[in-house]
Amino acid sequence: MSRFSSSSWRLAAVCVPFADLFIPDGETREGSGEANRRNRAAKGICVPCPVRRECLSDALSTEGTDSPYQRAVVRGGMSPHQRATLSVVDRERLIREGQTGPPGPR
Ligand code: SF4
Repeated sequence: MSRFSSSSWRLAAVCVPFADLFIPDGETREGSGEANRRNRAAKGICVPCPVRRECLSDALSTEGTDSPYQRAVVRGGMSPHQRATLSVVDRERLIREGQTGPPGPR
């Protein structure tokens, strides 16, 4: 079971002070050098985030089959391109793990 309710995980997000990296500016095109720079910086912030699993699950479940260009910046430690190119099996597993926790002893 996730330690957080369906939306309370957002309260533990560590990216809030770095919103400029995580909110689309409407100008930076995915795949550009500037987008890649922002994505690298954002991923570094996601690494120690205690709600990374919940965040990624939320992103994957709300984005559905959107293309990388329709997805907003880094979420859950993954770039729009990385999320868009996950296999169906991996996508479903990551969504489930963010909602219920990873498989294994409870
Ligand atoms: S995983 Fe990254 S994008 Fe998601 S809440 Fe944490 S810091 Fe923010």
